[in-house]
Amino acid sequence: MSSVKYIFVTGGVTSSLGKGIISASLAKLLQARGYKVAIQKLDPYINIDPGTLNPYEHGECYVTNDGAETDLDLGHYERFLNTATSQANNVTTGRIYQTVINKEREGAYLGKTVQVIPHITDEIKRCIKLLGETGDYEIIITEIGGTVGDIESLPYIEAVRQQIWEMAGNCCVIHLTLLPYLATTGELKTKPTQHSVKTLLEYGIQPDILVCRSEHPVNQELKRKIALFCNVNINAVIESIDAPTIYDVPLLMMKEQLDKVVLNKLRLNMRHEPDMEQWKAFLGKLKNPVNEVKIGLIGKYIELKDAYKSISESLIHAGVANECNVKVEWIHSEKLDKDNIKDKLKNLHAVLVAPGFGNRGIEGKIDAIEFVRKNNIPFLGICLGMQCAVIEFSRNVLKLENANSTEMDPDAKNPVIDIMASQKDITRKGGTMRLGEYPCVLLKGTKAAGIYNKSKIAERHRHRFEFNNKYLKKFEEAGMIASGINQSPLGDLVEIIELKNHPFFVGVQFHPEYKSTVENPHPLFVKFVKAAMERKSVV
Ligand code: GLN
Repeated sequence: MSSVKYIFVTGGVTSSLGKGIISASLAKLLQARGYKVAIQKLDPYINIDPGTLNPYEHGECYVTNDGAETDLDLGHYERFLNTATSQANNVTTGRIYQTVINKEREGAYLGKTVQVIPHITDEIKRCIKLLGETGDYEIIITEIGGTVGDIESLPYIEAVRQQIWEMAGNCCVIHLTLLPYLATTGELKTKPTQHSVKTLLEYGIQPDILVCRSEHPVNQELKRKIALFCNVNINAVIESIDAPTIYDVPLLMMKEQLDKVVLNKLRLNMRHEPDMEQWKAFLGKLKNPVNEVKIGLIGKYIELKDAYKSISESLIHAGVANECNVKVEWIHSEKLDKDNIKDKLKNLHAVLVAPGFGNRGIEGKIDAIEFVRKNNIPFLGICLGMQCAVIEFSRNVLKLENANSTEMDPDAKNPVIDIMASQKDITRKGGTMRLGEYPCVLLKGTKAAGIYNKSKIAERHRHRFEFNNKYLKKFEEAGMIASGINQSPLGDLVEIIELKNHPFFVGVQFHPEYKSTVENPHPLFVKFVKAAMERKSVV
């Protein structure tokens, strides 16, 4: 029998209570005690993955090394644990059904009626156990997306019930709820929590631990009341108070002894106290910065900051590495034009142009890049941001007429960014971009080589369009060089561009933000923030 232990994290009362952060924080504490832990997320929507979802719907789409387009919570898992995730760490209802339906067509269930129970629940359990069966982990934390009581979540809750029954003693359920605060009476209310636990009980699951999200401290009396009504030990009622930063949460959970309660429940050894020294040093620097810079983040989804989650977290990591508070100024690309650019950008110490798809807001990005290029303001362009830098240079320096990306203008006279050869015949949308990790060789003596201090790197990608090599010579002669190249069987792909005569002007076709963690802040962001600090010291 498997000795891997399984922890399920469910949510009640409302969505957005921070199940991802609680899961990542618990995993961090268990890892800091010496356990090998993985976290996965089960999402109850019918899309196969979030790759086809608008960021307004679901925030950022996070890409793993193996090219899976996943939920943004996986970004938190990687940033907290400093270990890579993969497709196995994120499963959706769409994927579950797709697998079952494909098997049905192959005849795997010949003669049988295919049903939610047992076929869908079996497939859910198979996905839950996949990571455990790799032999790489001792504990698997499975976060169930959505809120208990939702129709969509039912098969997952049922699969969890079955697994607890089948693996008696090796599972534990943490239920995250909200204790709303009634300002008029000055009270935290427990009723929604009681009802949400009752709903779980109706489905046959008794939670072992309740993590109670609250704006105010949860006193012993309240904990006793919740424990009594919900059949849990009083020490298993955990306060999860609103925190100034998500990076506080592991230490808050340690104070509440969430890790100890979990280990006791799973009958696992405490090993040693969590070694959180590095984490505490990170937090210390985060809260006591010596410097401050203002960095503009230009994108078209900025009404929803979750759309740029990994970028803003990477800037936090890089700020800490430089002992500098990075104040992000969120700038809507559609609101930028030649007349207001100077006003909006002149006081910034650096500008980052974000990834994206489609035409909306593109000209504002290009105008912004012209301004930072001419004014020596440090610039980092990511994916579409890099492509915009190429378009800007081709129009304003190379004076190429009607220069554009064929994504924006399929008939552009000068398609300086063009569809990749490997993408030309692809018509289906889901999971068909150039996705995941690819190697990249850095040109000696360039800024890129200096930033990474390496000659070969590997970064994650998510795009269909690429620098058009037909123009490379012209660009290089005028001072924009390709300093990172992927040598692919279909020809070289330009992965990094930079300007020779600029303090820091770097565009990357890949997404460095997917690889920055608390333990390993990404060098591109670290050097970008450093360049912003240098800019501040000269203006
Ligand atoms: N839309 C561009 C492409 O497909 C850039 C994608 C991105 O920024 N992730 O190439």
